[in-house]
Amino acid sequence: MDTDPKPASAATARAHAALAARLPADTGEDFADARRGFLGTVPDGRIVDADGRVFWNMGAFDFEMGDAPCPPTVNPSLWRQAKLNTIHGLFEVTPGLYQVRGFDISNITFIEGDEGYIIIDPLISSETAAAALALLRRHRGDKPVKAVIYTHSHVDHYGGVRGVISDADIAAGLAIIAPEGFLEAAVSENVLLGNAMNRRATYMYGALLPRDPTGHVDAGLGKTVSMGTVSLVPPTVSIGRTGERLTVDGIEIVFQVTPDTEAPAEMNFYFPKFRALCMAENCSCHLHNLYTPRGAQVRDAKAWSYYIDEAMGLFGGETEVLFASHHWPRWGRERAQAFLKVQRDLYKYIHDQSLQLANHGLTAPEIAEEIALPPTLAAEWHTRDYYGTLNHNAKAVYQRYLGWFDGNPANLHKHPPVEAGRRYVDLAGGAEALLDKAREAFAAGDYRWVAELVNHLVFADPANAEARGLQADTLEQLGYQAESGPWRAFYLTGAMELRHPRPPTSQPRQAAGGQLRALPADKLLDSLSVRLNGPKAGATQLAMNLTFSDTDETFAVSVENGVLHHRPGEIATAPTITLTRTGLTDLVLGQTTLEVAIDAETVTAPLGAEPLASLLSLLDRFDFWFEIVTP
Ligand SMILES: [Zn+2]
Repeated sequence: MDTDPKPASAATARAHAALAARLPADTGEDFADARRGFLGTVPDGRIVDADGRVFWNMGAFDFEMGDAPCPPTVNPSLWRQAKLNTIHGLFEVTPGLYQVRGFDISNITFIEGDEGYIIIDPLISSETAAAALALLRRHRGDKPVKAVIYTHSHVDHYGGVRGVISDADIAAGLAIIAPEGFLEAAVSENVLLGNAMNRRATYMYGALLPRDPTGHVDAGLGKTVSMGTVSLVPPTVSIGRTGERLTVDGIEIVFQVTPDTEAPAEMNFYFPKFRALCMAENCSCHLHNLYTPRGAQVRDAKAWSYYIDEAMGLFGGETEVLFASHHWPRWGRERAQAFLKVQRDLYKYIHDQSLQLANHGLTAPEIAEEIALPPTLAAEWHTRDYYGTLNHNAKAVYQRYLGWFDGNPANLHKHPPVEAGRRYVDLAGGAEALLDKAREAFAAGDYRWVAELVNHLVFADPANAEARGLQADTLEQLGYQAESGPWRAFYLTGAMELRHPRPPTSQPRQAAGGQLRALPADKLLDSLSVRLNGPKAGATQLAMNLTFSDTDETFAVSVENGVLHHRPGEIATAPTITLTRTGLTDLVLGQTTLEVAIDAETVTAPLGAEPLASLLSLLDRFDFWFEIVTP
């Protein structure tokens, strides 16, 4: 199989030309906003440690900088966003308010208070956050950090916190302000399905792709994600009510809580002194995800739009500059208000019109083809599909209200991919006949159909090199055509994995245990119930009391009917086993054995540890590298 990336096809060139003709006029305003207030940066946006370990390297995207013309292998609209997202460094938003952008996928914002800095959203990695703070201090003075604000519960807004605050800060009770429900959401949102979501995230963010015109060019939301040390320091101040005011280091902040919008726990806030409004991640310079393709519960478009409207009412009249946790700010009251209005209406339009079409009897894929933004919304760059897409967001709205089933009984009990694939290949007259048809469609540029057709053959016979090669070629052209960073990354990563099958690993590679270690005991036990192999558990019955010595909690844990249950308290007739949450995590991850732990007395069980041994034997370990584009 030819494993090199292919050039863009004539059909892809035609698709790009057609799109370019439909794009809004470029007034240059976005580029001017993205560069406004530039104070300085680090060479190549490169963040490395003394050993040369690279945490961030904007220099890898040199091919996008300056006047570089759009390569034929990149969607021209995505190329524009990619260029905007290469602009990096420290920027003055307004005197006293600064942002470092382009040091991670997200922005870090600094407010000058009476004595030091208030930091909003310390990026993903300690190293990138520390580099941003050092850059600020070079330009604005070596002052202490007085408080940290997390706008919401996603890792790109808190993971780098240890890069900007010290153990001494934490011990001294430095204020860390976050919306109510932050910690619960941060540690739990992805826990039951962490393995599947993290694996799918390798597709969504293009982490495996080269940084070149045939690979990763942009994530839409930002350039890419940094690769450094992720941590979580719990908040000390919880904001639970809209209208709540705090004065931090002499700076007054007015909060608006926005639960169940872009994240389960999120908040916007306003600084009267600067007439500056922070819209967290509820507004960004593109269409965001109502459904994230890495996989997650769908978000509530109606609530999202409602809270933007509420922000307009609360703060819109005074706001002179609007900034957010991704992308560049907008200056001027009218521009800020116009931006909010379009963002508000974008999510509401998708919500209402998806339901409108569903009420007319259309199904999710039909709605996704039919729906189009009205010209007034489509005229704006910040409504475009760089991250979420109108197509998959419309399906998300349908899913939220009606679920996966479209009501057509033909779709109620379809064959799964391998079984369907075999039958379709047979129907086509065999693999060669199917490939002939697929090659004709490929030549005609009907890549969506090729992907559907050849997928049947790949699932019927994953060893068929012709099929894998053609499928890779067609996904690749779809990737080149995609306006959405995540769509491009999904397509190109799929093509790569079809061309370069990984050798089977002898040992399943598991998702990092870091998240498990951060979990409260009940959430840790929840995660075990998902690891329990139901068929293997079968008729097994077991019961025990697990006492966690580090948190002084005891849970009654039982397995019956292939189900693990836990609740606070004890089962009088069951043995008690004492250990720490970390000790249990080590056992679950296979980093130690029960025998070793009992010998070391990190597990104590006066009446024996048999129930725990049985439970551990019934838990599955998940392979991180499960297949996606092949069975
Ligand atoms: Zn974010």
